[in-house]
Amino acid sequence: MKYIFSFIIIVFMANNLNAQNKIAFEVSFSEPQTHYADVEMEISELKSAYIDLKMPVWTPGSYLIREFAKNVESFRAFNASGAELPAEKINKNTWRVSSGNTGRIKVRYRVYAFEISVRTSFVDESHAFLSPAGIFMYPDGQLNASSEVSIKPYKTWTKISTGLEKLASKANTFIASDFDILYDSPIEVGNQDVFEFDAEGARHEVAMYGGGNYDKEVLKRDMAKIVAEQTKTFGVNPNKRYVFIVHNFNSGGGGLEHLNSTVLGASRNSYNTEAGLLRFLGLVSHEYFHLWNVKRLRPIALGPFNYDQENYTSNLWIAEGFTAYYQDIYTKRAGLQSAEHYLMNLAGTISSVENQPGNRVDPVSQASFDAWIKQYRPNENSANSTISYYSKGALIGLIMDLEIINSTKTKAGLDEVMKAMYDEYYTKKGRGYTDAEFRSMLEKVSGKSFEDVYRDYVNGVKTIDYNKYFAYAGLTLIDDAAVGKDAYLGAVTALKDGKIVVTNVSRQSPAWNAGLNVNDEILSMDNYRINNVSDPRLSEVDKFISGKKTGDKVNITVNRDGLIRDIEVILVRNPNHKFRIASLPNPTEAQLAVRKRWLRL
Ligand SMILES: [Zn+2]
Repeated sequence: MKYIFSFIIIVFMANNLNAQNKIAFEVSFSEPQTHYADVEMEISELKSAYIDLKMPVWTPGSYLIREFAKNVESFRAFNASGAELPAEKINKNTWRVSSGNTGRIKVRYRVYAFEISVRTSFVDESHAFLSPAGIFMYPDGQLNASSEVSIKPYKTWTKISTGLEKLASKANTFIASDFDILYDSPIEVGNQDVFEFDAEGARHEVAMYGGGNYDKEVLKRDMAKIVAEQTKTFGVNPNKRYVFIVHNFNSGGGGLEHLNSTVLGASRNSYNTEAGLLRFLGLVSHEYFHLWNVKRLRPIALGPFNYDQENYTSNLWIAEGFTAYYQDIYTKRAGLQSAEHYLMNLAGTISSVENQPGNRVDPVSQASFDAWIKQYRPNENSANSTISYYSKGALIGLIMDLEIINSTKTKAGLDEVMKAMYDEYYTKKGRGYTDAEFRSMLEKVSGKSFEDVYRDYVNGVKTIDYNKYFAYAGLTLIDDAAVGKDAYLGAVTALKDGKIVVTNVSRQSPAWNAGLNVNDEILSMDNYRINNVSDPRLSEVDKFISGKKTGDKVNITVNRDGLIRDIEVILVRNPNHKFRIASLPNPTEAQLAVRKRWLRL
């Protein structure tokens, strides 16, 4: 009901707004050193006595309510002749302007922008990064309206980089045919270093802020290889133009995908090492793959978006997890890392997932659904209670890929499922997919039931039978820690304010069972003083435990909120795994064929 109702309004308003210059924004920076963006919004051909203007509460791709309205101040509205109009806030992110049937209004507000991340805005005297969902308001019910965006760079700034289409007739002005496009098009303004390359029929712009020791020619060459490999899978590159906005920091990472652009965080001086370059290219690979997986092929809840609340899906293990799986697959296919290196990293992901106690509590479909309250809001118990839909989702992608390659005798793999889903739901039907539709495509392409995979690994918490899947490719997972006899406490400590403090207690460990708490200050172990020295390789606590054996009793004296307590723990064998992937001794022709197809050897 609600959907149909709002649809009618949208159509009406969209028609109403299709004439020229209905919504026009101008963003300027009068005092960038104070971290403000000054926004002016003009709305013409208003037909009602009031209009509600809303600031989104989240930005697509980053599943957390961020309350962008908290950064808005000095909101004022004016009529065409410049007289101030009554305006009031009616809830946390909505401003109601009484337009009095004036037909055209102008609204001004300022946005404080000082949060450095790929999903939040930042302004200082060197540049402005506008994450649009936190900058531009939309008229309630009019997400389909087009808008014109003029940027007035600060006097020392010379460049604007954005995926938005340029308006030829007006300098520094762009056009967004609806708010989904506007909110999906971040804008970088400053003196960024811009270079370009062509690949797969698309012009790619790279806008580097923050300097760095990158070699442009190397990046152009390697990034083009990733673009080519990924386009090959889908047979089509959806854009004619694509923009990489890269923020280089002392130490940075993370990215956010957009319709025809992305924002990447990078470490400015790590481009010249093999590992640093591969880390950057892995991020490029991840965000670029989102062009297809998420930005177009998507779970049904992820577009069209509701910017006013959480948008729930239990499929982030596909949207993010498969993207995490493919980011490394593509750098391997593009020849940017060896098969051995790929397998070593994959084994590391398996170790980290299997060593996380939350993996035995939280099904990955549930972790997807709860992203809004868990993934971006971790606490001291997160490792015990949740699993990342990125890493676990990547491993589900892995076993599905191997299962399909094996059952089709190498005729198909997960690639063919992704392509068929893209063709069917994005290209043909123009909508997102349901959980059942994704599973049904997996089964259609592979000719196999995935009931057990969904029951045990997607919606359940059973340990993945990795060796069943690796055996298809003549490989096996070996746990090098299985023979170890290390004693284990199960607590992580850190040096905080000159004190050795517990920061994590692992579920079912001796520390957990004996009641050692996060925030306990460790004073002594068996009456030996634990010194407050910081050693990044081995903490004082770990050093003490490493001198003990399984079954030893240890008395730990702690300070808990000013009270001294003794806690007795009995050490156990270290349960953590350290996996590697090795070839089976005599792989068959069929196994080698699966391996060859999987790793494109
Ligand atoms: Zn992602």
